[in-house]
Amino acid sequence: MDSVTLDRLANLAESTLPFESCALLLGEEMHNNRNILEMFVLTNHDRSPISFSVDPDDLFCAYEHARKIGLDIVGIFHSHPSMPRPSRKDIKFMQLNQIVWLIYSTLSHTFSAFMYSGMVMQVHMGLIKDEGVRHPWGIIQPL
Ligand SMILES: [Zn+2]
Repeated sequence: MDSVTLDRLANLAESTLPFESCALLLGEEMHNNRNILEMFVLTNHDRSPISFSVDPDDLFCAYEHARKIGLDIVGIFHSHPSMPRPSRKDIKFMQLNQIVWLIYSTLSHTFSAFMYSGMVMQVHMGLIKDEGVRHPWGIIQPL
């Protein structure tokens, strides 16, 4: 089982250009953090450089995969050709899907993470190195 690193997500974003890339982030809650341990790459159904959408069949596969390996869907990743801030469309979907939204900018090569909880809030990320968890690398996400 591979672990997630920010490098792998950045590589996914760069290799999907000129389109936006997307992936579901699988993990588990531990010590009041959301540890992101796996990524499940999704096809951008829009094939667009400025938006993304996901095929319901792909989503079903992702949820089945998460269930099989005993992880939850704790976040969604996608890339922007602009700065890593949620677009108006992103915010609409963030309100429906209150998980971590991780955005990578192929312009600035930086990540930002957000959650919707009454309003859009930026959340902090840190890297976890082997600390006795099942996977040596991941993104640690404070709740
Ligand atoms: Zn977006």
